[in-house]
Amino acid sequence: MSDEAERKACVIGWPIEHSRSPRIHGYWLRRYDVAGRYDRRAVRPEELENFLLGMGRGGLVGCNVTIPHKERAWEIVSEANPDGVGRMGNRLKAVNTIWLDEAGRLHADNTDVYGFMANFRERLGAWEGTGRRVVVLGAGGAARAVVAGFADAGAETVTVVNRTLEKAERIVEELGNPARALPLEHLSEVMPQADVLVNATSLGMTGQPALDLDLSHLPDDAVVADIVYVPLETELLKRARTRGLRTVDGLGMLLHQAVPGFEKWFGVRPEVTPELRQLLEADVAS
Ligand code: NAP
Repeated sequence: MSDEAERKACVIGWPIEHSRSPRIHGYWLRRYDVAGRYDRRAVRPEELENFLLGMGRGGLVGCNVTIPHKERAWEIVSEANPDGVGRMGNRLKAVNTIWLDEAGRLHADNTDVYGFMANFRERLGAWEGTGRRVVVLGAGGAARAVVAGFADAGAETVTVVNRTLEKAERIVEELGNPARALPLEHLSEVMPQADVLVNATSLGMTGQPALDLDLSHLPDDAVVADIVYVPLETELLKRARTRGLRTVDGLGMLLHQAVPGFEKWFGVRPEVTPELRQLLEADVAS
């Protein structure tokens, strides 16, 4: 263990007990022998502003932000330091990673986009986004990140399909081309041309209704991804695998989105190792 002063970071949310981030950062702190600590803090919505503005006084170098604070945290950091939010955070108007610079100023960004795309590329090997036709199910915060990721990767179309059409339309309005909105009832019309299908709804998660999709409409070389990671292999992924399609599960997104935060707070760019993945797989299965 090095003898520098201990650096402290945490994850905040309301509720927060379910967060797996301490496992990820705890693994990296041990692996890189960093004098640091990372824990969970339950922060109520009405406490968020005071918490973020007082982070330095509280001895923290930064934090992860989870439900329900991502949008409000973007507003608070933008007001406190107008140049403090990174490109993706401003594009999505939501942040999940916050850090203080040496002068004590707040900075923030959204690393879900990086996390989703880094995992997607890692799992598929050499994958090129240019000209791809992507279908994203869902229009919540996570879907927004996935849409931005494929748009940046050069996709030809990113069709956002959602139960509540207005929410899909809002994403299209905010993110622009190549995103487009489609009601859920029309999903089967776009499936035959889809190169990639992503579930970014909460359907299929343990305790939620199943996502009941007929995958026979997809081309044989399509990729199916799910951002739900409890269970690790969702019914959607199982059906895709059984049909012989390539699949990408949601756990890698969780692991990769944590990389930039750890680097900002603790000064080491950490690696998503097979050992870390196994640790989290065991946690998800327990
Ligand atoms: P959210 O903002 O609450 O959005 C939920 C989405 O699911 C909405 O599009 C909603 O449709 C849809 N939905 C929920 N119940 C439905 C139903 N019965 N029928 C049809 N659609 C339904 O949630 P989020 O933050 O985007 O998260 C979505 C999922 O992604 C969660 O399971 C979360 O755990 C997971 N996630 C994973 C990662 C990762 O690192 N792998 C990161 C973030 C989130 P409406 O708009 O019509 O309500």
